[in-house]
Amino acid sequence: MSTAPGPARAVVVVGGGLAGVPAALDLADRGHRVTLVETRPRLGGLAFSFRRDSPVGALRVDNGQHVYLRCCTAYRGFLDRIGGTSLAPLQTRLDVPVLDPGTGRLGRIRRTALPVPLHLGASLARYPHLSPGERVSAARATFALRRLDPDDPALDGQDFAGWLRRQGQTDRAVEALWDLIGVATLNARAGDVSLALAAMIFRTGLLTEPGAADIGVPRVPLGDLHDTLARAALDRAGVTTLLATRAGRPRRAPGGGWRVALAARGGRDRHELTAAAAAPAAPPGPAPRLLPEGALDHPGRLPRIGTAPILNVHVVLDRKVLRRPFFAAVNSPVQWVFDRTTSSGLSGLPGGARAQYLVLSQSAAGEEIQLPADVLRKRYLPELARLLPPVAGARVLDFFVTRERAATFAPAPGVGRLRPGAVTRAPGLTLAGAWTATGWPATMEGAVRSGLAAARAVAGGGSAPTRSDDRHEESV
Ligand SMILES: Cc1cc2nc3c(=O)[nH]c(=O)nc-3n(C[C@H](O)[C@H](O)[C@H](O)COP(=O)(O)OP(=O)(O)OC[C@H]3O[C@@H](n4cnc5c(N)ncnc54)[C@H](O)[C@@H]3O)c2cc1C
Repeated sequence: MSTAPGPARAVVVVGGGLAGVPAALDLADRGHRVTLVETRPRLGGLAFSFRRDSPVGALRVDNGQHVYLRCCTAYRGFLDRIGGTSLAPLQTRLDVPVLDPGTGRLGRIRRTALPVPLHLGASLARYPHLSPGERVSAARATFALRRLDPDDPALDGQDFAGWLRRQGQTDRAVEALWDLIGVATLNARAGDVSLALAAMIFRTGLLTEPGAADIGVPRVPLGDLHDTLARAALDRAGVTTLLATRAGRPRRAPGGGWRVALAARGGRDRHELTAAAAAPAAPPGPAPRLLPEGALDHPGRLPRIGTAPILNVHVVLDRKVLRRPFFAAVNSPVQWVFDRTTSSGLSGLPGGARAQYLVLSQSAAGEEIQLPADVLRKRYLPELARLLPPVAGARVLDFFVTRERAATFAPAPGVGRLRPGAVTRAPGLTLAGAWTATGWPATMEGAVRSGLAAARAVAGGGSAPTRSDDRHEESV
C-alpha cells in the first residue's frame, strides 16, 4: 500500500461510485483522514443491485450487466483491494460465442496462446459471419490500428466509422465485428464514436497482451462487490462513510481548505465538514453543483458532454435454454445475453425443475430506452427464441426491464477535449468520475482510474494544511 509523503489531512470525497470509493481507499492508505459522502443509501453508483420480489421468489438483480477485461488493471486492483477478485473471475482465455439467428451459424471470437497479434488469427480466419475477403480486410484494419495514437488530438474529432470505411470495412464487417465489440465497450455505434476512444479500446484490448481482452463476469450481484465488500474495506481502512447524505458545493474555509455542507436524506440533519481537500466524484450532470466558481478552466464544456443509455431486458424461463455463461448476437436486435441464474440467487422450481434467468444487455439503446415493457417483450422474446429455439417452448415466469438513461457519457467525436482532468484551479479540490479525462470510455476501469488520479492529485498538492483543516468541524 502507498503511504502519504506529506502530513495527514482531512479529506472529503463526494460520491460513493467506482471513482469515489477507490479514491477514498487510496487516500486512507496514504494516511489521510477520509470522509466519503454518498447521496444514496448504498455504495456502487451506477453499478449496483436491488432485490426483486419475483413470481419465482426473491431475485438479486443488477441494474445492468457489467463485465470487465483483463486489461482493466485499475478495476482489478480495486477488486483485489476489497477482496472481490474470486467473485468476478476472468476467462482463462477470451472466448465469445457469436450467433447469427438468420443462418444459425455460431462463430467464436477466441484467442490462442500465440503472441499478439497472432493470438486472434485462427479465430478471425474461421469467423463465419464475414466473407473470406472481409476477414482479410479486418486483419489488415487490426494491424492499421497500431499506427493510431489515441493521445493524438486529431483523432478525437474524427469518427470511428469513417476510419473503418477508409480501411475497407464493409457495413457487414462493422456490424458483425467492430460494433459487436465497440457497442458493448463504448456504448455507441462506430459512427457516433470518437476515433481516439475506439483506437484506445481496440488497441488496448487486441494489441497489447494476448490476454488483454479476456472477459471477467461477476458471479455475484454487483452490490456484493461494490457495496458490501467496498464498505467493509472502507471501514477497515478507517474511512468514515456517510450514506444517504448529500454534499453541497465546497466553499473556501476561512483558514484554508474546504467547507462542505452535508444534508442527510429528507433534509432533517444538516451539518458541515471542513477538510483540507475535497474530491467530487459525481457524474457530469451534478458535477457543476459540486464545483466552486472558477474551479474549471472551461466550465462551459461540461454541459456539452452527452449521455448514452443502456437497457437490460430480464427474462426468467421455466427451463434451461442456454448452456454457456453468455453469447453475443449478430444480425439481430439482441446484442449480448448473459445467464444470471446463479448470481441472482434463483433456485429451482417446485418439483425440481431448473428455471433460468437470462439478461439481454442492450447498449447504445437509443429511443428503445423509452419503450414500455410490453412493447419490448413483444420485440425481444421472439428474437430470443430465434437465437435459442427452446425459448419458444418455455414458459416466461418473469419479464422486466431496467433502464439507465445516462448509463455512460456519450463517446462522441470531440468528447476528448470536453473532459476535464483531475486537477482543478481550486487548490486542494480535485475531480473524479468515469467521464473525466482518463483516456478510457465510461467504464468501471475509467472510474477507478479517475478516482486514483484524484487521490494522487490530493496527496501531491492542494492547499497547505492548517490546524482547522485537520479538524472535522460539525455544526447544525
Ligand atoms: C447499465 C450499465 C451497464 C454498464 N456496463 C458496464 C460494463 O459492462 N463494464 C464497465 O466497465 N462499465 C459499465 N458501465 C459503466 C460503469 O458502471 C460506470 O462507468 C461507472 O460505474 C461510473 O462510476 P463513477 O463513480 O464515475 O460514477 P457514478 O457511478 O455515477 O457514481 C457517482 C456517485 O456520486 C453520487 N453523488 C452525486 N452527487 C452527489 C452529492 N451531491 N453528494 C453525495 N453523493 C453524490 C451518486 O449518487 C453516485 O453514487 C455500465 C453502466 C451502466 C449504467
